[in-house]
Amino acid sequence: MKKEREEDFEANLTGEGMQGEDANKPRWFKRIRKGILTSTADKKETQEGLWNKCPECNYICTTTELSENLYVCPKCNYHHRIGSLDYYDFLFDNKEYTELFDQIRSKDALGFTDLKPYQKRLDEIHAKTDLKDSMRVATGKVDGEGYVIACMDFEFIGGSLGSVMGEKFSRAVDYCIEHKLPYLVISKSGGARMMESAFSLMQLAKTSGKLSQLSDAGLPYISLLTDPTFGGISASFGMLGDLNIAEPGALIGFAGPRVIKETIKKDLPEGFQRSEFLLEHGFLDFIVDRKNLKQKLAQLSIHFRS
Ligand SMILES: [Zn+2]
Repeated sequence: MKKEREEDFEANLTGEGMQGEDANKPRWFKRIRKGILTSTADKKETQEGLWNKCPECNYICTTTELSENLYVCPKCNYHHRIGSLDYYDFLFDNKEYTELFDQIRSKDALGFTDLKPYQKRLDEIHAKTDLKDSMRVATGKVDGEGYVIACMDFEFIGGSLGSVMGEKFSRAVDYCIEHKLPYLVISKSGGARMMESAFSLMQLAKTSGKLSQLSDAGLPYISLLTDPTFGGISASFGMLGDLNIAEPGALIGFAGPRVIKETIKKDLPEGFQRSEFLLEHGFLDFIVDRKNLKQKLAQLSIHFRS
């Protein structure tokens, strides 16, 4: 009898012994064996990507709900980072567009090795994703208006600017001139691609020079900066738009806030390098919500034409 009472004591799920009146109440659960018996290998994990938590307000919703809302938090309007295909899907009418210059691939011309060889880095990304490089170019109709849209993928070595991005960017400009189309570039990048060294830096001049040809042809170039846009991008074509616009709350700058803070040894003002801050200081023409972007682009195209 004494033994049984001891076992009951262990079975109490609150981990505390029951005393007095409570000890005589019927129990809902009785643990037969001690400890957790499921082995780690058999435990089921919540499927990744099914639920999404907003990093700004902690609102939790399903990925489907979020994608229907163009990856913008329904509660606080936080703009999640998305890839080129997501942008194309909601910008181009009926999701219809033609991808251009998609066969250009990066090469390790310098035999560069950091933590791993550059070529190995490229091979791994090519095996894991269907991205060929950090920028896609596509053309189609946006609310009935023809556009060429170049869009970066942060997933591919931080959306870095290498020789492929430079070449695609330039060919896209040629395509715009040939077909008399406005040019939109959606930036999302950490800057120049370290592994291509000087070849990467040359793209700053190449892309900027190419934009003057677009300007000579009387065609508009719209630069949309999204979270995050840094380094070589903001030092070249990112800030050269006939209109420089941004998504709300995007972090945009040349050097990152930590580096600046360490250099000037001063605290940075609140909201530093966010698009709202840049707008206030005259770096941007306007901020556009993702849900208004398509309509806005069509209006701009008509406006520039007239
Ligand atoms: Zn939120």
